[in-house]
Amino acid sequence: MRVSVDRRSCIGAGMCVLAASEVFEQAGDGRSVVLDTDPPPELHVRVREAEQECPAAAIQLAESP
Ligand code: SF4
Repeated sequence: MRVSVDRRSCIGAGMCVLAASEVFEQAGDGRSVVLDTDPPPELHVRVREAEQECPAAAIQLAESP
């Protein structure tokens, strides 16, 4: 899985950090940064929750082939 955040779309709601703090962090500007772009399988469920809960649809996930 590859994780990215479109920081231009992010509105700093922080839902992603609540869902998966191992993968997302809110930077000083309040917007999300990705800490781990290739998170381990045990985090995938929570990363998908973050993607679904993001109110700005700013999280992109690409499944590994
Ligand atoms: S949930 Fe979406 S809008 Fe909120 S901080 Fe995370 S990426 Fe940004």
